[in-house]
Amino acid sequence: MDAALPLAPAAVELVSLTKRYAQGAPAVDNINLRIASGSYCCLLGPSGCGKSTTLRMIAGHETVSSGDILLENRNITSLPAAARGTAMMFQSFALFPHLSALDNVAFSLKMKGVAKASRHKQAQDLLERVAMGHLAQRKPGELSGGQQQRVALARALITQPRVLLLDEPLSALDPFLRIQMRAELRRWQKELGLTFIHVTHSQEEAMALADTMVVMNQGLIEQVGSPHEIYNAPATEFIARFMGGHNVISTGSGKIAVRNDHMLIAPAEPSAPATGIAGMGAAGRSDGPPLARPAPSGGSDVHAVTSVGAIVTDVEYQGTYVLLGLDASTATGPTGVSVMLPEAKFAQRPYAMGESVHLSWHAAHALRA
Ligand code: ADP
Ligand code: MG
Repeated sequence: MDAALPLAPAAVELVSLTKRYAQGAPAVDNINLRIASGSYCCLLGPSGCGKSTTLRMIAGHETVSSGDILLENRNITSLPAAARGTAMMFQSFALFPHLSALDNVAFSLKMKGVAKASRHKQAQDLLERVAMGHLAQRKPGELSGGQQQRVALARALITQPRVLLLDEPLSALDPFLRIQMRAELRRWQKELGLTFIHVTHSQEEAMALADTMVVMNQGLIEQVGSPHEIYNAPATEFIARFMGGHNVISTGSGKIAVRNDHMLIAPAEPSAPATGIAGMGAAGRSDGPPLARPAPSGGSDVHAVTSVGAIVTDVEYQGTYVLLGLDASTATGPTGVSVMLPEAKFAQRPYAMGESVHLSWHAAHALRA
């Protein structure tokens, strides 16, 4: 252990942070987290897992039941929101429609009693910084979605925060705009060099944006890592399922997770008995044991996992891929599985609904329970 090595500076550190509302299980349950300075961090998880509560505690919009919040090593747990060095950007940007871009950005300075000339100068400078100086007099309704987002960003930055907090900022936008806006957020975060903490329930959004993803479930942190790490090595069955793109399958020796583009499919031999599809219900527990990579081994073990029979239940074209839905006969009964086939492969040998097939995978691609 390198106990003497100093840890990289954290913008935000959560220490045994807990939030209990009036009754029931804690909304946030004793979590510990270090968010690196200048990083884009996404808090990801299903609805109700405690993401917004965590963010609101960091912002100072929610009291802490126990634990501490440090910002650049300063304990901010009991400071008022305005004294913390954080700023919040809300869903759909929440700009005041009747105010110009300039007055929207200057608003919090006005509340603080800063004189008009001074607050307008600061707001104008910030609008220049996000390439919006020439549109300072426009009202939100006269701006495009991208321009509104930049105004919202300038408005959040006027308090000179060290950390920008974003709660589902893109979720009310249409899909096309959402993808544009997230690219802008990512670009501005890098350009400004600030720490962003962005809450989302969308794994696609988190993977597109994050340096570090924090996956939460029922008030707990299940895994922290880069999008690549989490997608390729989900630590738990919950994450494999939540991230999508994985099949969780019971084998004779336990549960495994296999990415749906790593599943191999072949036509069943004509003599192979048809597999039953009745009685679905082999769904796994969401709080199952952690997944781990199989022990490195050579030779025959690569083929140790044999194929299972399955029946095609769904064929979906997705452009470059075809997504096949199947009912596989596994150790615990029929299990829904999906397989992603490159379009060209599917074109060579199309599969039809109701067709019997064999599915297999290389041991190297299977994460074992
Ligand atoms: P998320 O943002 O991940 O969807 P939240 O942090 O909003 O989740 O909520 C976590 C849990 O805390 C949920 O069970 C929710 O119902 C509960 N909760 C959130 N806010 C309050 C509140 N003000 N009072 C009581 N319970 C709340
Ligand atoms: Mg929320």
